[in-house]
Amino acid sequence: MAPSTLIVALALAAPAVAWVPTSVVSRSAMRTTAPRRTTASMSLLLAQETGKSAIDPTVFQKYLDIPIDDCKQGIMAEYCWIDADGGVRSKTRTLPRSKLENGAAGLPEWNYDGSSTGQAPGDDSEVIMIPRAVYRDPFRLGENVLVMCDTQTPAGEPLPTNSRASAAATFAAHEDEVPWFGLEQEYTLFNLDQVTPLGWPKGGFPGPQGPYYCGAGPENAFGRAVSDAHYRACLFAGLKISGTNAEVMPGQWEYQVGPCVGIEGGDELWLSRYILQRVCEDFQVHVTFHPKPITKGDWNGAGCHSNFSTKKMRDAGGMTEIVKAIHKLGARHAEHIAAYGEGNELRLTGKFETADMNTFSYGVANRGCSIRIPRTAEADDCGYLEDRRPSSNCDPYIVTGMIMETCMGPEAPVIEPQNAAKA
Ligand code: ADP
Ligand code: MN
Ligand code: MN
Ligand code: MN
Repeated sequence: MAPSTLIVALALAAPAVAWVPTSVVSRSAMRTTAPRRTTASMSLLLAQETGKSAIDPTVFQKYLDIPIDDCKQGIMAEYCWIDADGGVRSKTRTLPRSKLENGAAGLPEWNYDGSSTGQAPGDDSEVIMIPRAVYRDPFRLGENVLVMCDTQTPAGEPLPTNSRASAAATFAAHEDEVPWFGLEQEYTLFNLDQVTPLGWPKGGFPGPQGPYYCGAGPENAFGRAVSDAHYRACLFAGLKISGTNAEVMPGQWEYQVGPCVGIEGGDELWLSRYILQRVCEDFQVHVTFHPKPITKGDWNGAGCHSNFSTKKMRDAGGMTEIVKAIHKLGARHAEHIAAYGEGNELRLTGKFETADMNTFSYGVANRGCSIRIPRTAEADDCGYLEDRRPSSNCDPYIVTGMIMETCMGPEAPVIEPQNAAKA
């Protein structure tokens, strides 16, 4: 549905009193957990159709209490894969416990109907899932697992949406460099209408940005339960989640995954997004990874800052290596921007702690640059760099693979930093 259609539809659904559309939400931001309505009384229907409203949690508890931890059939393995729209889908199978002994390599391949996800034709619909990483299942608990998979055709070719394959090959070619990634995932929570961010007045705007970033109190923080539930679920799963904070726009949050080594960064970030979707399903809150969910007014967008280092950068004197890498990143700026996420041009305007997407820049502690060198790295003369360009809906396999490939590439012309003689 085009954004304009959506606004018209929602305007029809809204009460006759002053209704002001607060957002232009793109197609990718419209990923939905509830049926979409374009007719009147949308909010009423949502309340009845969320899939939760008719479920009595105390009745469901009776079934959760059925003891299955030692049942002889085995455990439940939730196989997760990336779909054609940058979402994560999953389905479950029962597996004998013995299959878990050798991690992902010991798990069987499986398949799904790719014609139902826009990833295969109807007459040859099978997509093969290859298990790549296994985590504990924070929803089912016990010995049950979540399995991050990548996807192939029956002939063994990676699907066009399988960006993991080439990233994994890049990392495999440079294992000695021990690349680390710390990915800062920003996201925005909305009510189920997908129009009103959490904490915003319906049809209007909250007070200007300022008190919300890392804020506390009912007038400043909206959705902390979601953020914390997700944090705990990720810790239990075994993800390297390293922190979380409320963001600059009300209803917006961030968590960080890392440092992860090589391909693990993409695996863990994708799985963490899946867990967030599941948490939001429980809370009946809509989450979007769109980089600019609110375009009207002065509101920060959402990014996925990607912190990167190699062993040489972390070792004494690594700053030389960091600066060389930045020159290489600068030389391929346009190529990166094109691959760093859909809708990113709405965010990388040069305002709201971003650099204009048309110019490459870097500097120490400078949050208005494409690449930031942390002050600690300057002080220690080693450490890491922060690529601030990727958008919140980026594909972390593409971003991490591209950073790695670029930084392992040929030397590039010197670019002057935006500040600090040292950099
Ligand atoms: P910011 O100050 O930009 O908000 P955050 O604290 O949110 O930074 O995120 C920084 C991320 O960088 C964390 O995930 C952290 O684990 C990661 N990180 C720390 N050191 C390194 C390193 N040497 N290489 C790569 N990532 C790192
Ligand atoms: Mn951060
Ligand atoms: Mn942030
Ligand atoms: Mn950052």
